[in-house]
Amino acid sequence: MVKTIVFLGPPGAGKGTQSQLLQERLGFIQISTGDLLREAVKNQTPLGIKAKSYMDEGKLVPDELIIDLIKEKLSQIGNNIILDGFPRTVPQAKALDNLLANLGRKIDGVILFDITEDEVVKRLSGRRVCPSCGTVYHIIYNPPREDEICDKCGTKLIQREDDREEVIRKRFEVYRDQTAPLIDYYKDYIVKIDATADKEEVYNKITSVL
Ligand code: ADP
Ligand code: AMP
Repeated sequence: MVKTIVFLGPPGAGKGTQSQLLQERLGFIQISTGDLLREAVKNQTPLGIKAKSYMDEGKLVPDELIIDLIKEKLSQIGNNIILDGFPRTVPQAKALDNLLANLGRKIDGVILFDITEDEVVKRLSGRRVCPSCGTVYHIIYNPPREDEICDKCGTKLIQREDDREEVIRKRFEVYRDQTAPLIDYYKDYIVKIDATADKEEVYNKITSVL
């Protein structure tokens, strides 16, 4: 039976990092709406053009755009998946329930990454990402072997446009107002984990829950 797992938590909690580990080690497919949107912005698709200003300001992209995007993606994947950064609003969660039901799937678990705003600011201000393969680093907590160069593909790392302190704080506020209500929506099967622990400890905790 294929599994569908939702990663819920503020920006910078480590959702992408753990999704990448589960993808590499256990063959889960990571579906990150943030990554899909950044790709659309880079390619200047109609979706990317509409989404860019919301993303630059740290606001959520409108639900209807995100739901269309995820609908297309979900229909292409038959494996175990991690939904990373989706859903982020109650209407998105309701749409997801319908989309999954139509595909004969359901949500098997929701992992809530628990972390404070101050820790998120520290993590996101030091985050570096590979623009080519998407691997995530941190200049102190998880540095690449060679300064600013991706271990996996040798590309020069970049800092995301929205990883500036004022935008980070806005994104945290958006999380609190619009995404945290999902904790109640999923209350029957949510598992909260301490996201401030070391990356491998968080990974072990998640796999024990899965
Ligand atoms: P999210 O996908 O939730 O926005 P990321 O996975 O991109 O978060 O992680 C944000 C930053 O924190 C990255 O720089 C990452 O390297 C770092 N990070 C992730 N998990 C941990 C951890 N357990 N301890 C310390 N730093 C971490
Ligand atoms: P992330 O990479 O998850 O931090 O997302 C980066 C940005 O993409 C967010 O700040 C939003 O502007 C947008 N975004 C990503 N996922 C969603 C979503 N599910 N709903 C609305 N906006 C999203």
